[in-house]
Amino acid sequence: MRLAYIIVGLISELLLLSFVFILKKQKNALRIDITRIFISAWFAVLANVLVACAFNEFITNVAFSVYYSTIDFITFYLLTFTFTYTGRDKYLSEFKTFWRIAIWIDVLNMLVSIFTGHMYNIYSATFSDGAVYYKTVPASFFNVHLALCYLPIVFSLILLSISLAKSHGFYRFKFIPILFSVTGIVILNIFYMMFNLPYDFSVLFYAAASFLLFFFSLYFVPRRLMSNSLQLAADFMKEGIILFDAERNIIYINRTAIETFDINDRNISFSDYPISEWLQDMETSKLEDFQKIYSMSIHGKDMMIKVDYKNCENSRGHHMGSFFLFEDVTADQVLLKNLETAQTEANQANVAKSLFLANMSHEIRTPINSILGMNEMILRECSDEHILEYADDIARSGDTLLNLINNILDFSKIESGKMEIHPGEYNLYDLIRECYHLVAPRAMQKDLPLEIVCEEDIPSDFMGDSARIKQVLVNLLTNGIKYTSYGKVKLNVSWRPMDDKDCILMFVVSDTGQGISEEDIALLFRVFQRVDEDRNKGVEGTGLGLALSKQLMNMMDGDISVSSTPGSGSSFTVSLPQRIVNPAPSGKFVLHKSEAPKRSKYKEAFHAPDAKILVVDDIEMNLKLMGALLKKTGLQISSALGGNAAVEMCKNEEFDIILMDHMMPPPDGYESMKLIRNAGGHNASIPIIVLTANAVEGAENTYMSMGFDGYLSKPVQSKDLEAMLLRFLPEEKLQK
Ligand code: ADP
Repeated sequence: MRLAYIIVGLISELLLLSFVFILKKQKNALRIDITRIFISAWFAVLANVLVACAFNEFITNVAFSVYYSTIDFITFYLLTFTFTYTGRDKYLSEFKTFWRIAIWIDVLNMLVSIFTGHMYNIYSATFSDGAVYYKTVPASFFNVHLALCYLPIVFSLILLSISLAKSHGFYRFKFIPILFSVTGIVILNIFYMMFNLPYDFSVLFYAAASFLLFFFSLYFVPRRLMSNSLQLAADFMKEGIILFDAERNIIYINRTAIETFDINDRNISFSDYPISEWLQDMETSKLEDFQKIYSMSIHGKDMMIKVDYKNCENSRGHHMGSFFLFEDVTADQVLLKNLETAQTEANQANVAKSLFLANMSHEIRTPINSILGMNEMILRECSDEHILEYADDIARSGDTLLNLINNILDFSKIESGKMEIHPGEYNLYDLIRECYHLVAPRAMQKDLPLEIVCEEDIPSDFMGDSARIKQVLVNLLTNGIKYTSYGKVKLNVSWRPMDDKDCILMFVVSDTGQGISEEDIALLFRVFQRVDEDRNKGVEGTGLGLALSKQLMNMMDGDISVSSTPGSGSSFTVSLPQRIVNPAPSGKFVLHKSEAPKRSKYKEAFHAPDAKILVVDDIEMNLKLMGALLKKTGLQISSALGGNAAVEMCKNEEFDIILMDHMMPPPDGYESMKLIRNAGGHNASIPIIVLTANAVEGAENTYMSMGFDGYLSKPVQSKDLEAMLLRFLPEEKLQK
């Protein structure tokens, strides 16, 4: 009997110790309490094993003292564990301090009792087989110790029973094993005391109870509860989920999956539709995760199902199973399709709009070419002051119209992403002077002073797209003049160096005009947005200029901002990062007198009476215009009305240059060029210059790559036209 007790005791010790080691690393209130229970129990069992094998009274006395003390701790920790386990730990902290003090007094008491024997007395008895064993006779004071041990036990049992009564289903397993263990220990202990048994078996029952506590409270129950809760959560998911184990047996199907496919975990297998279809992909993906959208018919309804297949591995990388997560994305897909269609339609409409704008600009450019060209002839040849004044007005309005067309074309270029910035070297003061001369006539008409102030240390030459900068500044200056009746318009130019090579150029265009209200400032840079329409009724404009200027600036990494006080004027600030080419200071800004804002008298650039050129166009007026524009150069000009006529003429006559329109009824300019070149002879190798109203971005490059030798856009400036001819005319035929 004694041997059996000792062996069971030692096994219990081993078990308790291993639980303590397993739990050692983990930190949460529950595990810490359980570990403490196990350590105390370990001491209690040890003390009882010692009693069982004790051979003298003193050792027995010490062992009993340890045993009674550890019981204090076990029961105390049992209670703290129960509080936490039943979710009542908020009441615990005050109680703990008080109880700990009581326990330590009791422990001290027990130790003293080893020598005084005031708590219990040891006596020895003899078994029927003659073996000696020891027991204690408690003194009346011992009841205090018993109360200290039994009160927490009873309290724990009450708390556990209440929780058990309140729980349902699987949750009962949270409490039953622990209740069973504690009750078992209590009953065995009472038996030991009541029947004066030689050994306290309740102590040995600690090992079994500890195992139950360990297994149920820390592993089995939490895991089952977690899987139950996950299952509940999974049933609420709008996605369907099908879980498989490592052998690909189905282990779980959530509610959405069951409802979608009208299946359950008993009647589905891998060969069933729709999983069979997904599985084919799984096979080809060789245990790889995948995501795919399947279009399938389920219960006669066409559906789009997005399927995620994922493999699960444990921490050691072993394949543990897999799952399909699927979602009905029919509505999303329809929406996506509609959005795509809407976007395609919008894009098409946008392309159509840009094309329309480009075509319109082309179509308007052609008649303006004639109007401005013919007007140029009047300005050149007429000496009647009145008529010259009218012609001047026509020229100015023509310029305005051309500017508008250019803006529309630019807008269509930006919209279609075809706008490009062409950087080149430029002189800043030259650029400002050009701007000045372009807007000064308008300011003079309104009697508005136009002031230009530049910082004298500003570098002289920069790298940038001078044409676009000019376009923006001219637009701002024109606006200043347009919307100002009294006072003045001022351009202030300054710079902020960034490093040796780069700086920010600041152009501030300010006026003393009507100003812009705060609400209108927010709308200012929108395309086609004019503001203060009532007041500006008489002022021409489209609302395109500022929007274009802003976009152009943004393309050059710059920006435009505006500040304005209604009634006192506006100030537009352009800040533009530019690379410095020549850092030499520009000095004082002067407007060269020779470039005064007057229409300069025409003077031909060369004379070449021996040279012969052929002008090809399908519009007779344009042919006439070319003839007139080049009259003073003395050139021998032949005209061909259309491509066929040109090809015919080239067979009989030798020319030095051909000026060819592009958009003509077949053969167009390009085809005519090819026909002339293919025909051989002298004209096959002469320069052919395309003269066209097509001014879209990159047009020049396109024509050059088509094989033309030069490109001129309509309406053609006679200065540009003569410069182009000068480039290609044979030297010996020129009389400069
Ligand atoms: P447009 O002048 O052709 O109408 P813009 O885009 O250049 O188009 O200008 C948009 C609007 O901003 C104008 O219609 C005008 O109402 C307002 N605006 C622009 N510049 C000024 C200014 N300097 N003073 C007052 N209003 C201005």
